[in-house]
Amino acid sequence: MTAIVNRSLFDEPESLPLLSIQTLVNLDSSGCVLIVAPHPDDEALGCGGAIALLRQLDLSVNVLVVSDGTKSHPNSQTYPPPALKKLRERESLAALKILGVESKAVTFWGLPDGAVNTYKASQEAIAHCYNFLTALAPSMIFLPWRKDPHADHRASWQIFTTASQRLPKPPQLIEYPIWDWDRQQRGSFTESLKAWRLDISSVLELKLRAIAQYRSQISDLIDDDPQGFRLTPQILQNFTRPWEIYLQSQ
Ligand SMILES: [Zn+2]
Repeated sequence: MTAIVNRSLFDEPESLPLLSIQTLVNLDSSGCVLIVAPHPDDEALGCGGAIALLRQLDLSVNVLVVSDGTKSHPNSQTYPPPALKKLRERESLAALKILGVESKAVTFWGLPDGAVNTYKASQEAIAHCYNFLTALAPSMIFLPWRKDPHADHRASWQIFTTASQRLPKPPQLIEYPIWDWDRQQRGSFTESLKAWRLDISSVLELKLRAIAQYRSQISDLIDDDPQGFRLTPQILQNFTRPWEIYLQSQ
């Protein structure tokens, strides 16, 4: 795990070391793993393979979805925000069930999509997160990459990193990229981080089935909003490889 993050990370991902899930986790660890998803689909896109592998090892996996995802189709009449919020929650739960995570292990904070950065600056954000982490006591947290182009992703990283550092026993933090895969949005990398690929080939079929559950994001299910968001095949191909990229502080 010695590769350093640089600008070529997403241009030549195959140059990163390929690790197995056994390398990543201490199987004697009794603590659970927490997956933090800024929007209801990031958990499967970024970490679907890791989730399935961890569950196959019978490790406890909890998922926290930060925002309600209602900005994906802001003008839909058939799916106004309350209906879209429910739909996106159902999609996440269906995807996570395929990956081995039951609904009781999934928490939706339901913050307004696009407003996580505002929440980050609030008085209660860190305290709320700290209390959540204290109750769950995860030994490992998968977070959005700290410099993801999407502000909700960066704010989610900030909230959970700050709260984690205040815990008596800070968990291991692992970051996953989402929007840097898009060449148009990709930022520059000046951080000195370890980067590696996780081999998910044995569970890729499960990950593909999980991603297919997000019909509001990948299909014409919501067809009355010309400005509606769509995960195009070009975007999706970055998340359907037999490996996932992860980053970690040195
Ligand atoms: Zn997202």
